Amino acid sequence: MAKVLTSRSENYSQWYNDLVIKADLAENSAVRGCMVIKPYGYAIWEKIQAVLDGKFKETGHQNAYFPLLIPKSFLSKEADHVEGFAKECAVVTHYRLMNDPNGKGVVVDPEARLEEELIIRPTSETIIWNTYKNWIQSYRDLPILVNQWANVMRWEMRTRLFLRTAEFLWQEGHTAHATEKEALAETEQMINVYGDFAEGWMAVPVLKGRKTESERFAGALDTYCIEALMQDGKALQAGTSHFLGQNFAKAFDVKFANKEGKEDYVWATSWGVSTRLMGALVMAHSDDHGLVLPPKLAPIQVVIVPIYRKEEELAKLTEVIAPIVAKLKAKGISVKFDDSDNRKPGWKFAEYELKGVPVRLAMGARDLENGTVELARRDILTKETVAVDGVEDLIENLLEEIQNSIFQKALDFRTEKTTKVDSYDEFKELLETKTGFFLAHWDGTVETEEKIKNETKATIRCIPFDNELEEGVCMVTGKPSKQRVVFAKSY
Ligand code: AMP
Repeated sequence: MAKVLTSRSENYSQWYNDLVIKADLAENSAVRGCMVIKPYGYAIWEKIQAVLDGKFKETGHQNAYFPLLIPKSFLSKEADHVEGFAKECAVVTHYRLMNDPNGKGVVVDPEARLEEELIIRPTSETIIWNTYKNWIQSYRDLPILVNQWANVMRWEMRTRLFLRTAEFLWQEGHTAHATEKEALAETEQMINVYGDFAEGWMAVPVLKGRKTESERFAGALDTYCIEALMQDGKALQAGTSHFLGQNFAKAFDVKFANKEGKEDYVWATSWGVSTRLMGALVMAHSDDHGLVLPPKLAPIQVVIVPIYRKEEELAKLTEVIAPIVAKLKAKGISVKFDDSDNRKPGWKFAEYELKGVPVRLAMGARDLENGTVELARRDILTKETVAVDGVEDLIENLLEEIQNSIFQKALDFRTEKTTKVDSYDEFKELLETKTGFFLAHWDGTVETEEKIKNETKATIRCIPFDNELEEGVCMVTGKPSKQRVVFAKSY
């Protein structure tokens, strides 16, 4: 039987949770805030990783690995960094357990207290810059362009599968440069890599821009971000790239001799995307029937379901289907021929719909006679009968069309959900009934930003890069402003 989802209109958040679980992407674990990523979910994550990893390498980066545990003292070396992360740190205090003297299982061995407590990395700037100190002496050692694929731990209080978990998987790039200009160019390059990936692979349109001072990464001079809009009209920060200036070099005393032989502190960037992207992918495209996956990230792009009663019928169908499978594979299309006999075709249809397989072919006795096959498109739920002859070329083009069409749909949705607003009263009124991005003038102060956040729960998502400059006045204070910024309620 088909598994049933709560509808989006009924309860969006329940729909999301049902879908993640029923489509076998992930589930909650015995540990609060930590999820189990199931094989189907992990297969999508692996695709995300593979594409991003390729893009990082194309732009000159190499992968490396640094320890999970960081000496507590490292964290406090950069004042803003510790201020931002201290509240979320898990701390390792002991290295041994012993039998409980009262006979109740095991307890921490009080004798095995660590001299210096260790924190589980919430991000790795500190341990990495402590290491870079040994790697960098002169300008010849620069740039260092390193990325790490890892898990991190942030003790988040309100968690939600993929979007915000206490432990999450991510990649973190950490680069070291001789000049400010080079570090700034790197920060910009990597937010563009993320933007291209979100739009070109995930089919999720994103706004690229700069975070305001209060939303900046702890220890950064500037944070660039990509912001996506989910189907409930809430924004999701989907990736960040930070210009760290010389803050970490100063904290860890990382100096180099420049070309002129003068000593200077090294310039830094860091950038990351996480398993949150999985949440963005689900929330941006899926519907009440299940996942809608962009073909470029779908673990299975085409599924073929034979419809038969007797074994001989399956044998005949297989004779026609096997060459289709081979031709699709030769084109690099991932295809599954589901000839398992322990499930009925109707069950399989519902299952692959739930799992978001972009294209489904079904073939029965009549198709066999006619040289046809039924082709169903997951994104718009259409079905048509097409000739077997040449179906592989048709599918190849169709996958591209689906990829583009999913993107266009999300883009149209965003356009429809983007509203210009000029007065604070209007803004507050609109927020009662409308969701999405609101473009408004702001005076650039933390106080006004804070007031808006407290009164409306909407925050400044970013100051977009491709902003038209436009003289205006702040919707709250009436002070002059040169451009509109993007407000939204967010995840
Ligand atoms: P940050 O280091 O805070 O700039 O975050 C780097 C990346 O990790 C961003 O793309 C965030 O969207 C993502 N991220 C931050 N916190 C979490 C979390 N609790 N769960 C999943 N992803 C997260």
